[in-house]
Amino acid sequence: MKDRVAVVTGSSRGIGLAIARTLGKNGARVVINSRSEERINSISSELQKEGLQVVGVGVDIQTRDGADKLIQKAIDEWGGIDILVNNAGINRDSLFLRMNEEDWEEVIKTNLNGMFHCTKAAVRSMTRKRWGRIINISSVVGLTGNPGQANYSAAKAGIIGFTKTLAQEFGIRNITANVIAPGFIETEMTDRLPEKIKKQMLDRIPMQKFGSCEDVAEMVKFLASDEAGYITGQVLVVDGGLAL
Ligand code: NAP
Repeated sequence: MKDRVAVVTGSSRGIGLAIARTLGKNGARVVINSRSEERINSISSELQKEGLQVVGVGVDIQTRDGADKLIQKAIDEWGGIDILVNNAGINRDSLFLRMNEEDWEEVIKTNLNGMFHCTKAAVRSMTRKRWGRIINISSVVGLTGNPGQANYSAAKAGIIGFTKTLAQEFGIRNITANVIAPGFIETEMTDRLPEKIKKQMLDRIPMQKFGSCEDVAEMVKFLASDEAGYITGQVLVVDGGLAL
C-alpha cells in the first residue's frame, strides 16, 4: 500500500480510527476526519508520533462543502486519492411510531448523503489515475432490518444499492466499489446500548463474542490492496455469524 493515498471519513475513534491506523501502518498516506477539528488534530498528532503519514481535516461530511474540503486536502497534500473509505455514520434509534423527522433526516444526511458527497468529490481523481478503491461501511442491519433502526437500516441498505451501481459504472476505469457490513463491533456507538440489549445480541452471535474495530479494519486493508483488484460490487459481512 506504499504511497497510496487514502481518505477515511469519521476516523477520530472507533472503526474509522482502526481503519486509518491499519492503512497507515501498511504504508498508505491517510487523511483522517471528524466534525471536531480539535479532536482530529490531536488524533493526527498521535498517529504521526507512531510514524504514520497522516493529516486531519475537521469537517462535516453531511455537506458538499465539507466533503469537497476533505478530498481537496488529499489532493493538495499528496496529489490525488486512491482509496476512499466512507465510514462516518451515526444512529438515532427509536421505534418507528416514535421516530421523528429530525432523527430520520440526520441519519440519512450523515450515512447516505455524506457518502454521496465524498464519493462525488473523490472519484474524478481516481478515474484520472485509472485505479481506485471505494469501500463503504454499511451494517448487517442494512441486510436484515432491525426494530428501532428504521432510519439507520434504510441508510445502510441504501449504501448497498449505491455501491453496486458504482461498481457497474466505474469497473471500466479500474475502480472497485465494495461494502463491508459489520455486525456488533465494540465502539462508543455500541457502548451506549443497555446491558440487556448487549446480552441479547451476544446470544445471537454464533461466535459468542463481539467484533473488534481491527476485525473490520483488516477487511478494509484487503479490499484496498492490489490483491483484491478483481472483487467489486460485493457485500462482505464481518459479524461472527450474527446475520446467519
Ligand atoms: P463511532 O464510534 O460513533 O464513530 C463515528 C465517527 O464518525 C467519529 O469519528 C465521529 O466523529 C465521526 N462522524 C460522525 N458524524 C460525522 C459527520 N457528519 N462528519 C464527519 N465525521 C462524522 O462509530 P463506529 O461504531 O466506529 O461506527 C463507524 C461506522 O461503522 C458507522 O458508519 C457505523 O454505522 C458502522 N457500523 C458500526 C457498527 C458497530 O457495531 N459499532 C456496526 C455496523 C456498522 P465526530 O462525532 O467528532 O464527528
